Amino acid sequence: MASSPRVVVLAGGVGGSKFTLGVRDALARRNGPEATVVVNTGDDLWLSGVRLQPDVDSILYALAGVNDTERGWGRDGDTERVNAELQQWGAGWPWFTLGDLDLGTHLARTGWLRDGLTPTQIVERLSGRWPLGVRMLPMTDTEVDTHVRVVGGDVLHFQEWWTRHRAQLTPLGFDHPGIEAALPAPGVVEAIADADVVLLAPSNPVVSIGPILAVPGIREALALTSAHVVGVSPIIGGAVVRGMADVCLTAIGVETSAAAVAAHYGTRSEGGLLDAWLIAEEDAHLAAAIDALGMRAVVAPLWMRDVAASAAMADAALAAAAV
Ligand code: GDP
Ligand code: CA
Repeated sequence: MASSPRVVVLAGGVGGSKFTLGVRDALARRNGPEATVVVNTGDDLWLSGVRLQPDVDSILYALAGVNDTERGWGRDGDTERVNAELQQWGAGWPWFTLGDLDLGTHLARTGWLRDGLTPTQIVERLSGRWPLGVRMLPMTDTEVDTHVRVVGGDVLHFQEWWTRHRAQLTPLGFDHPGIEAALPAPGVVEAIADADVVLLAPSNPVVSIGPILAVPGIREALALTSAHVVGVSPIIGGAVVRGMADVCLTAIGVETSAAAVAAHYGTRSEGGLLDAWLIAEEDAHLAAAIDALGMRAVVAPLWMRDVAASAAMADAALAAAAV
């Protein structure tokens, strides 16, 4: 592998942005080209007339250094005056807060959509405000919001299930209506084809990485690329680090373990995705079982405590691709 590898990252929001910060750091030290980050857009939604792209914005704000690191979402130092007014009107969702600065992003995006720009062009415009050090691409320009089928027969938008119900309504499955007709956003397939390494961030395998892989053409591009495909486990010691990925995994019949998620992604030589899979030191005992799947298990510290820790993870993932 080249010492300045061309890297593509597939990512969701919070886990995706922490990992992307590390990838940016690791590549900057190699003086390599900027990574391309393909972002999940299954979390997107319309609310009070504006289009939200939560995972895109999480990565955008984190890379720009303007994210609220304590709360874990939105802009640092944001206020909620407009949100209070929307609540008075009974507009939007009472359980979904929109910060004032964040609303500025949503208004800008929605205005550009009305002007006829594509989501890809809009992400490029949003990215132009700050020196992000990566190229961000939405997974697709088509609206394919994730829906959740829950026990009892109801179907909820992903955000309602996740934010309002905190994933407490037992999910039966996840759908992305219209995704069969969606295309990868311009540049996604090309970036994967030209990459030396594709990294699957330690994002939610079901509702962050899952929608990206469900866009027709992306899985095929991953199968065809000469790049090494390396994934990073979001599961450490049989538990999610944060969030509710365990509930999502259970719904699709996958155990909450680093080995089960590896098997879910599958081995590339056998029609799956992965050449190598990074697991935490706490899961070192699973390495033999993962190797037996035909991919390479690599044990590394996987706690993204700070940028240095995430960068060390990115280094380990790049090293895993070098062999
Ligand atoms: P979301 O879109 O904001 O839900 O974020 P992602 O899907 O990108 O990431 C959520 C996943 O990140 C969860 O399943 C967590 O288990 C995982 N995660 C969060 N922090 C860490 C960490 O420090 N290390 C690892 N390995 N995984 C993490
Ligand atoms: Ca998300």
